[in-house]
Amino acid sequence: LVQLSMPLNFMGMIYREIKQALIDIDDMFRILHQNPEIADRPGAAPLVAGSAAVRFENVHFAYIPERPILKGISFEVPPGKTVAIVGPSGAGKSTLSRLMFRFYEPQVGRILVDGQDIAAVTQESLRAAIGMVPQDTVLFNDTIGYNIRYGCWDATPAQVREAARLAQIDRFIDALPEGFDTPVGERGLKLSGGEKQRVAIARTILKGPPILVLDEATSALDSFTEREIQDALDRVSRGRTTLVIAHRLSTVVNADEILVLDRGVIVERGRHGDLLAADGVYAAMWNRQREVDEARAVLNRAGEET
Ligand code: ADP
Ligand code: MG
Repeated sequence: LVQLSMPLNFMGMIYREIKQALIDIDDMFRILHQNPEIADRPGAAPLVAGSAAVRFENVHFAYIPERPILKGISFEVPPGKTVAIVGPSGAGKSTLSRLMFRFYEPQVGRILVDGQDIAAVTQESLRAAIGMVPQDTVLFNDTIGYNIRYGCWDATPAQVREAARLAQIDRFIDALPEGFDTPVGERGLKLSGGEKQRVAIARTILKGPPILVLDEATSALDSFTEREIQDALDRVSRGRTTLVIAHRLSTVVNADEILVLDRGVIVERGRHGDLLAADGVYAAMWNRQREVDEARAVLNRAGEET
């Protein structure tokens, strides 16, 4: 029975992940087309980013008035620290990251960077201070080098190569027919999800922003890729103020604070050990996750044997 029910569980999980991936693509199109009405206020000043402390103050947000999504979110990310956000699908996690990047603005409350309300500064200066690594990176129909350099047009080839090395995508690129000049994207070489995410990480390393917003992939990457991406993300977030939507145990274990978001409310907060000891929502989530990981490991081993 154990042998039979495990693959069935696993199929259910894969199905949910595929569905989530489709929803994320949908989100991405929404983001690309969204909100021309978010404009700079007259006379908006550029953000003066110093040590880069981030603060959410009683943030309420709804895409449509009838349906509140975030209901009074308050937290702080001290300079250089990492706050992880976990919680079920639909809880409002990605919405938080969109507010941080000011794709939308809260109806109530404020988001501050070094004491400045992000609604009052220029969008350009805000976005220059934030590196975003989304779940699904869309590459431009251009070379892989262009995709890494994007936005940092004065970067030297040596700097681009170093960023690729730190993101652990350099060996992959060297094996391509034209190296950094290989065309990628829709009309070029197709990259896997993990490779695309590493391109996004390389771009972020090159940009070197004081604030990072990371949305970890939920999809089942093979464990080698997962380890490589985790190492690259750890490296890029070191010393930077980081808000990470976390799906991996390794990320949350090391976070300075974990926020458990459920239906737009922070239901638990603390460090990994404290939350496990509290034996609440978080503990239940990670125990379930561990079972899934174990099932996956069993399946991987079975796969390797055939
Ligand atoms: P999570 O990342 O935790 O899975 P999201 O922040 O993406 O959750 O979404 C929270 C809720 O907001 C979901 O119910 C989702 O359907 C809804 N939502 C997301 N984007 C939009 C949008 N552009 N318009 C209306 N509702 C949205
Ligand atoms: Mg999300």
